[in-house]
Amino acid sequence: MATRKCPVCGSKSFYVRDPDEEYEIYEFDLQEGNIVFNPNNPGSDLPAIEDNTDTYCCKCSWTGKFQALKR
Ligand SMILES: [Zn+2]
Repeated sequence: MATRKCPVCGSKSFYVRDPDEEYEIYEFDLQEGNIVFNPNNPGSDLPAIEDNTDTYCCKCSWTGKFQALKR
Protein backbone atom coordinates (compact mmCIF):
# COMPACT_ATOMS: atom_id res chain seq x y z
CA MET A 1 0.00 0.00 0.00
CA ALA A 2 1.26 3.45 -0.85
CA THR A 3 2.29 5.52 2.12
CA ARG A 4 2.06 9.28 2.08
CA LYS A 5 4.08 11.40 4.44
CA CYS A 6 6.07 14.58 4.56
CA PRO A 7 9.15 14.17 2.33
CA VAL A 8 11.20 16.23 4.79
CA CYS A 9 10.25 15.16 8.32
CA GLY A 10 8.06 12.09 7.76
CA SER A 11 5.05 13.62 9.50
CA LYS A 12 1.59 12.56 8.42
CA SER A 13 -0.09 15.69 9.78
CA PHE A 14 -0.83 18.45 7.29
CA TYR A 15 -3.13 21.35 6.71
CA VAL A 16 -4.62 23.15 3.74
CA ARG A 17 -5.93 26.68 3.46
CA ASP A 18 -9.52 27.49 2.66
CA PRO A 19 -9.52 28.71 -0.96
CA ASP A 20 -12.11 31.37 -0.09
CA GLU A 21 -10.79 32.41 3.32
CA GLU A 22 -7.02 32.34 3.48
CA TYR A 23 -6.90 32.59 7.26
CA GLU A 24 -8.94 29.45 7.73
CA ILE A 25 -6.91 26.29 7.79
CA TYR A 26 -8.04 22.70 7.87
CA GLU A 27 -5.84 20.14 9.55
CA PHE A 28 -5.86 16.52 8.59
CA ASP A 29 -3.86 13.39 9.13
CA LEU A 30 -2.99 10.75 6.61
CA GLN A 31 -4.03 7.39 7.95
CA GLU A 32 -3.39 4.41 5.71
CA GLY A 33 -3.17 6.91 2.88
CA ASN A 34 -6.62 8.34 3.59
CA ILE A 35 -7.36 11.94 4.49
CA VAL A 36 -8.81 12.18 7.99
CA PHE A 37 -9.79 15.72 8.94
CA ASN A 38 -9.19 16.92 12.45
CA PRO A 39 -12.57 17.16 14.25
CA ASN A 40 -11.59 20.61 15.56
CA ASN A 41 -11.65 22.12 12.10
CA PRO A 42 -13.87 25.17 11.71
CA GLY A 43 -17.27 24.80 10.15
CA SER A 44 -18.63 21.79 8.38
CA ASP A 45 -17.56 22.75 4.89
CA LEU A 46 -14.42 20.75 4.44
CA PRO A 47 -12.44 21.61 1.33
CA ALA A 48 -11.85 19.06 -1.37
CA ILE A 49 -8.22 18.11 -1.54
CA GLU A 50 -7.07 17.57 -5.09
CA ASP A 51 -3.69 16.51 -6.39
CA ASN A 52 -2.78 20.14 -7.03
CA THR A 53 -3.97 21.51 -3.67
CA ASP A 54 -1.31 23.44 -1.78
CA THR A 55 -0.53 21.40 1.31
CA TYR A 56 1.45 22.43 4.39
CA CYS A 57 3.21 20.19 6.86
CA CYS A 58 2.19 20.75 10.49
CA LYS A 59 5.60 19.76 11.83
CA CYS A 60 8.09 21.48 9.53
CA SER A 61 8.17 24.13 6.84
CA TRP A 62 7.48 21.82 3.93
CA THR A 63 4.90 23.10 1.47
CA GLY A 64 3.90 21.53 -1.80
CA LYS A 65 1.18 20.09 -3.91
CA PHE A 66 -0.74 17.23 -2.39
CA GLN A 67 0.42 14.97 -5.22
CA ALA A 68 4.01 15.46 -4.04
CA LEU A 69 3.16 13.25 -1.08
CA LYS A 70 2.58 10.26 -3.31
CA ARG A 71 5.24 7.63 -3.31
ZN1 LIG B 1 7.31 17.95 7.53
